[in-house]
Amino acid sequence: MHYHVGTNIPGYLPESEPHCVDSLGDALASLKDELEESRDNWHTNCPAYGSSEWGECTCHWCRFCEEVESTIDKIDTEINAEVYEDSHFGDTFVPPEGAPIHFWLTEAEGTYEECELSQAT
Ligand SMILES: [Zn+2]
Ligand SMILES: [Zn+2]
Repeated sequence: MHYHVGTNIPGYLPESEPHCVDSLGDALASLKDELEESRDNWHTNCPAYGSSEWGECTCHWCRFCEEVESTIDKIDTEINAEVYEDSHFGDTFVPPEGAPIHFWLTEAEGTYEECELSQAT
């Protein structure tokens, strides 16, 4: 058993291959990287981004990024437990503008060594 981590726009195929990893720990770390990278990109839409008012900004982008952050905070606890029980985690984020993105992490069949995706990376 191993894990796949990926993102896609709901209803569309993923734009890139899912990450194929060997352990749940690596899968959670990969999910965290994906979420942090997306949060950082979304945050640049804030009108106060990078300015001295940014820290106290409560615009729709900053509030949305807080929502993403609260999911990131749950990765090592609730999300870890959820994957352990259900073999799957998925959550969709709907930014104030642009396409929603579904982030997911799932148990994959077979071993990491045998998986086509681990060969590719
Ligand atoms: Zn795989
Ligand atoms: Zn803001």
